[in-house]
Amino acid sequence: MSSLKINPQRAAELLENLAAVRARIRVAQKTSKSTAAVASADSTEPRLRLVAVSKLKPVSDILALHRPSLPPHDHSQTPQDAHREKSEYTPQTHFGENYVQELLEKSRLLPASIKWHFIGGLQSNKCTMLARDVKGLWAVESVDSVKKAKALEKGWKERKTREKERQEGEEEQLRVFVQINTSGEESKSGVEPKSNDLLSLCRLIRDECPHLRLQGLMTIGAIARSKATTPETENEDFVKLQENRGWLVDEHGFDAGLELSMGMSDDFEGAIVQGSDEVRVGTTIFGARPPRKEAKVLEETEDGKG
Ligand SMILES: *Cc1c(COP(=O)(O)O)cnc(C)c1O
Repeated sequence: MSSLKINPQRAAELLENLAAVRARIRVAQKTSKSTAAVASADSTEPRLRLVAVSKLKPVSDILALHRPSLPPHDHSQTPQDAHREKSEYTPQTHFGENYVQELLEKSRLLPASIKWHFIGGLQSNKCTMLARDVKGLWAVESVDSVKKAKALEKGWKERKTREKERQEGEEEQLRVFVQINTSGEESKSGVEPKSNDLLSLCRLIRDECPHLRLQGLMTIGAIARSKATTPETENEDFVKLQENRGWLVDEHGFDAGLELSMGMSDDFEGAIVQGSDEVRVGTTIFGARPPRKEAKVLEETEDGKG
């Protein structure tokens, strides 16, 4: 890890992008429907969770945000500068990834203090390994079938059994979000809104998976709608996710604390205004992503050695 080189210019650019996103989040929180979000809008680290989506980006980028290095102290700075700096150099802890193999590699190379979110399309046959082997796995957000939930349960149980032998203290349950296909597009994964599938999946997680905790609901939504989303307009996908939580809580007795994971680069402010508890932002922090086959976990250093 210590051998990881971070280009100072790249690090400064990433920290600036992150600070700008955090500032936009604070502004949006002030008009949010969620009182918790409004209450936390003035603190340095928003209570609303920001997941920095680092898929296809190298580990050096992640480390630059997780272990920001402070510039030398400048006595001439104003209190506003100091506040901005404090926000800018608050370590980012939550990161999101879409591919199991890439996440596995990154989790081995990076500090254990990172909280990983798996947010990508899930294959049933990789769920057990994902839950069992990814160091620092904090949540799996793309659960959309009973089979996948059962495989995650199995993996987390195996991990707990293994850790008991080593006397390690980690959280007892793996947080999962159920992904809902709010836009009804065939290309999107997720269960159908207000369906029997949704209900039975949520019940299975709550009642039959002691190693999983139903943390909330997640949606991606239609691209066209997210492009059209502004803090002043309502996005239909976000309305639907809210309604599904209401349905589960009011009509089926689920915990009112179920979170909503919604909002990405193009629409996170609108999502916050509509009551999001967690936004997942990639491009606005890290820039455009390379094609998958060209992506590198470890960036080549200047002398050409990987
Ligand atoms: C890639 C991805 C994001 C981040 O998208 P940006 O538009 O780059 O912010 C968020 N959520 C999911 C599920 C993703 O796959």
